[in-house]
Amino acid sequence: MSGGDQLDFEIRPNPAPVSAADRAALLANPGFGRVFTDHMVTVRYADGKGWYDARVEARAPIPMDPASAVLHYAQEIFEGMKAYRAVDGGVTLFRPEANAARLAASARRMAMPELPAQAFLDSLHRLVEIDREWIPDGEDGSLYLRPFMFASEVFLGVRPANEYLYCVIASPVGAYFSGGVKPVTVWVSPDYTRAAPGGTGAAKCGGNYAASLVAQAEAIEAGCDQVVFLDAVERRFVDELGGMNVFFVYSDNTVVTPPLNGSILPGITRESVLTLAAEAGHRVEERPVSFADWQADAASGRLREVFACGTAAVITPIGEVRFPDGQFAIGGGGAGEVTMALRQQLVDLQRGKVADPHGWVHRLL
Ligand SMILES: *Cc1c(COP(=O)(O)O)cnc(C)c1O
Repeated sequence: MSGGDQLDFEIRPNPAPVSAADRAALLANPGFGRVFTDHMVTVRYADGKGWYDARVEARAPIPMDPASAVLHYAQEIFEGMKAYRAVDGGVTLFRPEANAARLAASARRMAMPELPAQAFLDSLHRLVEIDREWIPDGEDGSLYLRPFMFASEVFLGVRPANEYLYCVIASPVGAYFSGGVKPVTVWVSPDYTRAAPGGTGAAKCGGNYAASLVAQAEAIEAGCDQVVFLDAVERRFVDELGGMNVFFVYSDNTVVTPPLNGSILPGITRESVLTLAAEAGHRVEERPVSFADWQADAASGRLREVFACGTAAVITPIGEVRFPDGQFAIGGGGAGEVTMALRQQLVDLQRGKVADPHGWVHRLL
């Protein structure tokens, strides 16, 4: 493809797909990110040639030269989204145009070529179509889609690579929380930050996750589930979790999330929650929240609920906060009413159970 936004995908069905019986066994309890479908999408890019060689083929290892640029300088970005089985049996995606735009924005930040939005949407369509039997049935299951792109040029010099590989793989997932939604405990890292102004925090790149892992390990060590990162400059304001945005619900009916300051990832769930909360009659604000205020407002009872949000876990209540000098609970430490109502609203929209006035639901099949 050069110029146009359309890619012609060559479809090469997997000659040895997983049998229906084995697939059913895998789908019974897929967990998260461990089970994969029969196919993958690959599209190549080269400077001067553009995007080419678009394929849907058997999922298989990708042969790679040890001097491939991504292995040395980490030019890599990704997306995360879910294909849902709608109540009418169709298959839908939630706001995939937003994922396409974010992948392009991440590409610009990482000096990578932009995949046209239409090619992105087509790649998802082709993969879900051929692997549709892998979408779990039932309320909680979905097919997690992982589009990603990396520098494949064989070259050790430091500059933007001139060859890339874009891929999509798919993984059936069950309920993120086995046994229902329960509040998580978060760790406020005293030592580590995730992203700094001028850095790559707003890009969905693997490097941000690499930077967050040692803090996540520290959180587990402290008996917590997830890390909350503070801003890198003053270590005062709440940015977000390692892979989820954060919201605060106050007794005066206000719902607050930190503003997109360049080091926060612009979550599509975050953006949707802002809209849904306003429609539900809450006063919605994007403003900085300091850790000191978080603690004081939790103590006074002014802060009623806190939750994290992202595609994988949808909306997760935060019940307790720990840091080196202590800990505090939010509300009674349980799942808050506003949190659970927003969660239900979002899930019902994604499953096609309620009207979709925003046109967020994209029918794939
Ligand atoms: C992907 C991601 C989110 C959530 O984004 P969604 O579009 O809502 O899934 C939040 N924070 C980080 C760091 C992320 O990588």
